[in-house]
Amino acid sequence: MTPPPSANNALVLFSGGQDSTTCLVWALERFTRVETVGFTYGQRHVAEMEARPTILAELRKTLRWAERLGADHVLSLAVLADIGGSALTDDVAIEMGEKGLPTTFVPGRNLLFLTTAAALATRRGIKDLVGGMCETDFSGYPDCRRTTLDAVEKSLALGFDDPFTIHTPLMHIDKAETWALAERLGGREFVELIIADTVTCYRGDRSQRHVWGFGCGVCPACELRASGFERYAAGATTL
Ligand code: ZN
Repeated sequence: MTPPPSANNALVLFSGGQDSTTCLVWALERFTRVETVGFTYGQRHVAEMEARPTILAELRKTLRWAERLGADHVLSLAVLADIGGSALTDDVAIEMGEKGLPTTFVPGRNLLFLTTAAALATRRGIKDLVGGMCETDFSGYPDCRRTTLDAVEKSLALGFDDPFTIHTPLMHIDKAETWALAERLGGREFVELIIADTVTCYRGDRSQRHVWGFGCGVCPACELRASGFERYAAGATTL
């Protein structure tokens, strides 16, 4: 049965990576009921998706979050793998591609994620979506820009005949500040959870543990996570 709509419910786009895990706890601190959704889209590496249940179980150990954490959903968007051509779905080198976009860009991914999440949210009586999109120090993905998300909000409102809010708490902060935000939200314990359990590496490598967590250490996602942690650990970042 669909729960009644409430301004205090949120649906978090939760991949199992550092950013979406931070967003999840951001939402748990603000909304009384928080559900999560992850997408399978033929990712070459499933380490992030495999990390999701572990992270959710760890978060449930904190009472105030356990009381608020609701259903987890996993939806298939295999059409993205059918289209292919990205380093995340095919055997393609991680490098700069056409139009100054890295080959890790999956065209249409965030637009599909948000539209699908809004459809699920409608069924769940939820009007607030939360995502880890960030335009500060990332790869210039056009579907991570706030202007894109403002337009998506408008198209959802028209297409669903109902307003949605897309919250993007990381939009204007850098990776060091994302670590600092995690500490502010859940203390060192939550920072440790991110280090131990989240996966951001483009290669899905969980064989090597660094001070900032698991990863190959050399892909762009690992480099960003590592350099952000270094600046955060040096104490230069407050939030
Ligand atoms: Zn990596």
